[in-house]
Order: sequence, then C-alpha cells, then structure tokens
Amino acid sequence: MTTRQKFIAGNWKMNASLPANAALLGALLEGLRQQPPACEVAVAVPMPYLSQVQQLLAGSSVRLGAQDVSAHDAGAYTGETSAAMLRDFAVRYALVGHSERRQYHGETDAQVAAKAERLLAAGITPIVCVGETLAEREAGATDAVVARQLDAVVQSLGAAAAQVVVAYEPVWAIGTGRTATPQQAQQVHAVLRGRLAAARPEAARVAILYGGSMNAANAPELLAQPDIDGGLIGGASLKAPDFLKIIEAARA
Ligand code: PEP
Repeated sequence: MTTRQKFIAGNWKMNASLPANAALLGALLEGLRQQPPACEVAVAVPMPYLSQVQQLLAGSSVRLGAQDVSAHDAGAYTGETSAAMLRDFAVRYALVGHSERRQYHGETDAQVAAKAERLLAAGITPIVCVGETLAEREAGATDAVVARQLDAVVQSLGAAAAQVVVAYEPVWAIGTGRTATPQQAQQVHAVLRGRLAAARPEAARVAILYGGSMNAANAPELLAQPDIDGGLIGGASLKAPDFLKIIEAARA
C-alpha cells in the first residue's frame, strides 16, 4: 500500500466459520465487483481460516490479514503463529497490540514492538493499534498513553517505522457503539502524526486508521478528517452491506 492511501480493514475478531466466511466474502466481493473500491481493503481473520480466505480472495483486490503474530521466530512456543507462517498464506497485514490482546493477554509495549519487527522481517505490514482506556481519557492521559504505545514501536523499528500502519482505537469505543467524535479522533491522530514526524521525517506519511464503533453512518465524517486515513472496523465488517458502505465512504 502506498502511504496515506485510504485504507479500510475489517477485524473479524473470533467470529467466523467456513460457511459464514464464504457467505460474507461472497457478498463483499460481489459488491466490490459492482463498485470497485477506491481504497485498499483488507480483512483480518482468525488463524484457522487463513487458507480458506486466501483461496476465496484469490484474484480479488482484497488483502488478507491476521489478528496477531508471535513475537518469536520459531521453536517451542505452543499455540503461537510465526510471521513466516503467515507469509505462507500470503498475509499482507497483521494487527499488533489490539487492545483486546493488551487487556486480556497482558501484551506489553515491548512485545508489540517485537511483533511488528517480526512481521516486517517477513514482508508483512503491521497495523499497530494504540488507544487509551476510558479512565485514562478521563484522567487527561490520552496523548501520553498513545505516545508511549507508539514510541515503543517507532524506537525499536528505527527507519522501518515508516513502513507500518497505525490504528488509533480508543478502548472505550471498541464494540461499545460509542464512537469518538470526529474532532476527538482527529485531535489524537494529529498527535500521532506529529510524533511519527518528529521521530522520523519519512514516517509522517504513515497511514493512521481510526477504529472504534465505526459504521456506515459515522464513517463519512470520520474519514473526512485531515489526519484520518481509513478505518479498522470490527462489528460492521461482519455485515457485507455495512462494510461496503464504509469502503464507499473512503472514496470521497
Ligand atoms: C476493533 O475490533 O478493532 C474494532 C474497532 O471493533 P468495533 O468496530 O466493533 O468497535
């Protein structure tokens, strides 16, 4: 993906089955055939379905994504999936540091940075998720929290930091139906862009996605903000008509 091209990525989370995936992607690809997208589109799917979704997406412009990756290269790490394994299935993008992984699996900033490094070494673009909790926002710590999360990755990647995608996902907005206002999101995106530019001039053009209850109704205004380059979509990516409308909103 060229930097700052509009980018809409779906995160299916732990929602999938062989027939459901075929139905969802059938409807998505048919919609995109009728109205080809003007942006990069990807779906981040659960690991067991990588092969199925790779086959379903073959010949389309929709990219395959994963929701996580191991921080290790190979070896005795039961249950984990390496970046090289993802590469075997032509995975183009992988989420790292999603708040559900930070929250439920204790993932640290250092682990997120290590995962991003492994992905880049395998030729896969990390989508680095950052975001504050409601308590952190109410304490006025939003900028400091997202800066800390981003800096950990930027510092460890060095010049390669320009090759990542960043997703700002306020934790209080994920799966809650409560969306950041376009102004709230833009403010944090501007902070993140400033931080990237200060660390590495070439990183100023990294795409920064917004995620958190983005839907067909609120996508146009969010995507119109100057520093919002796209969306990371959870719930609404499971409904083809809604996801298609968000993809269409990225055209403007
Ligand atoms: C997500 O899982 O990254 C997300 C943004 O979820 P939702 O759109 O459901 O809030």
